[in-house]
Amino acid sequence: MTTSFSTTATRCENKCATTGRRRRKNSTTRTSSSSSSSSSSLVPETLKEMASDPEFQNTSTRLKAFGQKALTREEAKKRRRALENVGVNESFASYIETNKGSALERQLPPSILQVNIGIYCNQACSHCHVESSPLRVEETMSRETRERVEFILEKSEGVTTLDVTGGAPELAPEFRNLVRNARKMKGDALKIIDRCNLTVFYEPGQEDLGAFLKEHDVTVVASLPCYSEANTDKQRGRGVFERSIDALKELNALGYGIEGTGRTLDLMYNPGGAFLPPEQSKLEVAYKSELKEAYGIEFSNLFTLTNMPIKRFADFLHREKKTEEYMKLLVDNFNVSAAENVMCRDVVSIKWDGSLYDCDFNQQLDIGLLGAKAPKTVFDVESVEDIVGLKIASDNHCFGCTAGSGSSCGGAIA
Ligand code: SF4
Ligand code: SF4
Repeated sequence: MTTSFSTTATRCENKCATTGRRRRKNSTTRTSSSSSSSSSSLVPETLKEMASDPEFQNTSTRLKAFGQKALTREEAKKRRRALENVGVNESFASYIETNKGSALERQLPPSILQVNIGIYCNQACSHCHVESSPLRVEETMSRETRERVEFILEKSEGVTTLDVTGGAPELAPEFRNLVRNARKMKGDALKIIDRCNLTVFYEPGQEDLGAFLKEHDVTVVASLPCYSEANTDKQRGRGVFERSIDALKELNALGYGIEGTGRTLDLMYNPGGAFLPPEQSKLEVAYKSELKEAYGIEFSNLFTLTNMPIKRFADFLHREKKTEEYMKLLVDNFNVSAAENVMCRDVVSIKWDGSLYDCDFNQQLDIGLLGAKAPKTVFDVESVEDIVGLKIASDNHCFGCTAGSGSSCGGAIA
């Protein structure tokens, strides 16, 4: 929940070495004999934590009083002030060009269609840039919008990846229809990604989730911010680690993450505080050895993600009076090579209601495609070709994508 970030620059492996609680290699899974906590929904626990978390309550009250737009404006103002205080007075787009990077514009049609199919989630993580929770029930993709997404997919020959995210995407009523139809339509030519929080495996009705993902050859990208129970539960909520480990074992049993099966299981790490991720390749080695040794778990790749200074993480920075320090960290580590590879150059992001964005972060900040004539929703375009030539809508949160090795939904980019 919101009180749990670290305020010091530490690394997952350091923390794990000292505080990680280890379970036996052959601890129980649902496929053998489920542990009692893993076999039940996480929703009651999440709601309980939300109800007793003063920061969460505070955000809800402010949201009701001022509305989302006003809070988003206030958040952007704080980032701008912090940037001015550290000597950055130009826009992110101009900062890239001052540092000899390429202009932020769409020269080619995007190859990745990222669909945020709904905001509902059984968790309410402290870093969540979507501000998902079990309370976000209404914000889910309709059948009509899902069919339009499929129409665009069919017309967009250059799209090679359908990246489905949320919330917990699997809990959206249209998730399985989208996956089924996309696979049928594009066959092996399409990579389909499910951004999975792992605990979703133990929600009611998801007993066959693993089998469904395997049958439709879906790549699983799963969040696991640390290989220690204490650190993961601090960031993602009580009971998350145990369920995540059990779900990873189920995925391994289906061949996911096991070399030679062709079934990809990637893990995502994000820092537990106001610091940059450690080097991706080194952390991957540590994750692989810790998870294998402690739990017998294997996976394909580790992706590191920088915490974006928006939403719940922005609230945390503000509470801790760390906004300026964090923005300075991002600016001091600006990497022009990362700027060349920011994901918005190759992604188009679709919200549950069909509106279009340059990336999922912009989606959460309600920053639509740039220009008066730019399409607003999936119903304004026939294919992703229609957005070629548009400038990308960037703002001061974008420094989160270009610090150090950079950050994207596929991990480091430089
Ligand atoms: S699991 Fe993902 S979508 Fe759900 S609250 Fe956590 S970060 Fe947000
Ligand atoms: S936040 Fe979005 S628009 Fe900004 S650089 Fe990152 S991917 Fe691009």
